[in-house]
Amino acid sequence: MDAIISDEIRTLRDEVRGFLDEHLRPVEPALRTAGPDERRKLVAELRELAAEHGLWGAARPVELGGRGLPWAGWAHVAEVEGSYLEGPAVLGSASLLDLTMLHRHAGPWLRERYLQPLLTGEITPCYGMTEPGVSGSDLLQMRTHARRQGDEWVINGRKWFCKVRGADFMTVFCRTGPAGASNRTAFSMILVPTDAPGFEIVRDLPLLGDTGGHAEIRLHDVRVPANHLLGPEGGGFGMAMERLSLGRLLRALTWVGQAQRAYDLMCARLRSRRTSTDLLGDKQLMQLHVFDSYTEIASARLMLHHAAALLDADDPQVATAVSAAKVVASRMFQHVTDRAIQVYGAEGLSDDTPLSGLFREARTTRIYDGPDEVHIQAVARRLLARPEPAPPRPRADRTVPAGPDTDRTAPSGPGTDRTGPEQSAPVS
Ligand SMILES: Cc1cc2nc3c(=O)[nH]c(=O)nc-3n(C[C@H](O)[C@H](O)[C@H](O)COP(=O)(O)OP(=O)(O)OC[C@H]3O[C@@H](n4cnc5c(N)ncnc54)[C@H](O)[C@@H]3O)c2cc1C
Repeated sequence: MDAIISDEIRTLRDEVRGFLDEHLRPVEPALRTAGPDERRKLVAELRELAAEHGLWGAARPVELGGRGLPWAGWAHVAEVEGSYLEGPAVLGSASLLDLTMLHRHAGPWLRERYLQPLLTGEITPCYGMTEPGVSGSDLLQMRTHARRQGDEWVINGRKWFCKVRGADFMTVFCRTGPAGASNRTAFSMILVPTDAPGFEIVRDLPLLGDTGGHAEIRLHDVRVPANHLLGPEGGGFGMAMERLSLGRLLRALTWVGQAQRAYDLMCARLRSRRTSTDLLGDKQLMQLHVFDSYTEIASARLMLHHAAALLDADDPQVATAVSAAKVVASRMFQHVTDRAIQVYGAEGLSDDTPLSGLFREARTTRIYDGPDEVHIQAVARRLLARPEPAPPRPRADRTVPAGPDTDRTAPSGPGTDRTGPEQSAPVS
């Protein structure tokens, strides 16, 4: 990939890698066992250091103090930054989605109250969309609702799996439309401070045993000023789609970085661990792990970079490309971390290496930002809805001008017919 990266991106990527290797790697074991408060303190210290190195918030647009890179350029850095679970939080990319949404949709008051401190990392956001008792894959089923009372919104409902521990505010996806309103205009986004009266954390929700800050919350008559509405009333569904599309791409890029790290650890072990006869890496079954992991990482990476380029170009195929790449990347992440653990034996399951944490993370990726099945169906439906390619011309028509050494018919082997199945490949 280096051959196609600009000097600017390569330099930034290498600086990010150097910073994280030097400053985040030594703290990683402590972060793995820290509770949410301690984790937040450790990340805050590293964040200040990142700012001193000029690396804080590089992913942002220029008007928000960032470098204004195209997504296809940032993709190379995102992968490296994401190779550490806390990398995006340390370098300011973890809040990129909330920053982008506020930047695009917030009025003057929300900008001052939330956007400014978010830029400096003084406050932490979280997102409240999923709810207990209904399918989180289907936004239209969400039941949390807000009604307008004078100059305030009064919000009631429940949310879960939100990363609310340590967060200062939540963007709540809620129903604001009157009964009978079209589903797509019935929802809005409202910013709610997590210390507002009536905002209650019901219980923590460890994921596969990890207490990473996810929790279930209840909103009971929570009142916020009317100017806490993000974007237009009824614009929630559209903004949720916008947020998901960018979020999927950015997060999937970090999975490539994490899978690459698992792969590097696996190869290091295969090169160094001896059996009584030879190196572990000399065994053919172990070599299959290397081949499968290498090719899966490379495929996912290319699909994601392609999707990033489509996003930059505002190409209508971007949703298909992102969904397809998301599924490929999350499956790849799970397969690669699983193989790396297998190569490490019991040690891979312990917390002595980052592999157990990476595997846990990998498993979750097949559910959040849309479960595999939902993306697979969406991609397949879009592909099948495309106009049918023109049928191949009859063989007799396929003539080429006669020349001294040419046959009168064109070659008919595979790959010569451009109306063949490759035209409907998911990344096109
Ligand atoms: C690590 C992690 C972090 C998260 N962070 C947040 C957060 O910050 N904020 C937030 O609001 N939520 C968050 N979530 C929740 C996440 O958004 C939901 O889990 C996700 O949207 C899926 O919803 P669900 O869990 O209700 O599953 P469901 O929608 O109930 O789906 C369950 C299963 O049913 C199948 N299925 C569902 N729909 C279809 C379909 N249409 N076609 C075929 N099969 C289908 C799939 O196999 C799916 O896995 C997080 C989840 C995880 C795991």
